[in-house]
Amino acid sequence: MAHEWTAEKLAALLALPDFTEVYARADAVRHETVGDVVHIRAILEFSNHCRRQCRYCGLNSRNPHVTRYRMSEREIVESAEGAWKAGYRTLVMQSGEDPYFTAERLGGLVRAIKERTGLALTISCGEMPEADYAYLRECGADRYLLKHETADPAIYAALHPCGTLEARVACLRSLKRLGYETGSGFMIGLPGQTVRTITQDILLLADIGCDMAGIGPFIPHPDTPLKDVPEGSAEMAQRAVALARLVLPKANLPATTSLAVADKEARGQVFARGANVIMRKVTPDPYKGYYEIYPAAFPPTDVARERQELEEQIATLGRIPV
Ligand code: SAH
Repeated sequence: MAHEWTAEKLAALLALPDFTEVYARADAVRHETVGDVVHIRAILEFSNHCRRQCRYCGLNSRNPHVTRYRMSEREIVESAEGAWKAGYRTLVMQSGEDPYFTAERLGGLVRAIKERTGLALTISCGEMPEADYAYLRECGADRYLLKHETADPAIYAALHPCGTLEARVACLRSLKRLGYETGSGFMIGLPGQTVRTITQDILLLADIGCDMAGIGPFIPHPDTPLKDVPEGSAEMAQRAVALARLVLPKANLPATTSLAVADKEARGQVFARGANVIMRKVTPDPYKGYYEIYPAAFPPTDVARERQELEEQIATLGRIPV
């Protein structure tokens, strides 16, 4: 389906007063390309140490109010086995940019988990040299998730004292070259963002050739420099998901946690607007509560029960949990 998407076309759609028809188109494309399945992925947040200072993120290294933790290698492997036994087939291993977890240590974990389970592994541990991404791939990592956060270089620079958009995108292109299923994504509601920025975000996903994109509203965290910036719009986030489905018909598009935090109803709705993936935290207590990127209340972790409930919720949406 050749379709020339331009910033102008996307901006015109985003500005529509009523998005019902675009949502319906996104839902139809989703049905045709990736079917009615909803993929349930587990996410394990194994360390909240971070060397970076991203101004929106509660885990940034300048926030003194975080209880920092680092799960042991044994705890990580056991949590992965627990997710496998509960029926998960994909595990996202996420952390801050924690210098303790060198590529060598991460690679050891990937190998250990691959030996004990049949899990597909997504790594989400930030920016690394290409050689490290290559090493992790050799160890068996299948996918990598690294959101570009915003496609506007000036907004990117204002929010990331430790990096540039250019470096971020270079990492994504390395991952793609190395054969990873590559995930990016961005936030809605960052200061300075306009409809134009969002069209650039969507076109950047296409330019990189992303296999996955996580799109969610910005949620202010009280211990960050962005504490007084209003929360991003859940409606705009869903519009961006729908357009991402039109531009990247076969991509995996999650109903993000931040979308559910901004608007409880939206997490169900977005599955009829282009989304086809959901992630569930399997991070053990009490660590789960300490991984506070943005404020959110999560019930105590019960991996098997939560998985069961989620399957039932997906079925009530008329979709097939996998
Ligand atoms: N260190 C890893 C993981 C980052 S945390 C990395 O750099 O990729 C995962 C994602 O949470 C980020 O990519 C960002 O898009 C999102 N995030 C961080 N702070 C947020 C906030 N205040 N509101 C909404 N999303 C946020």
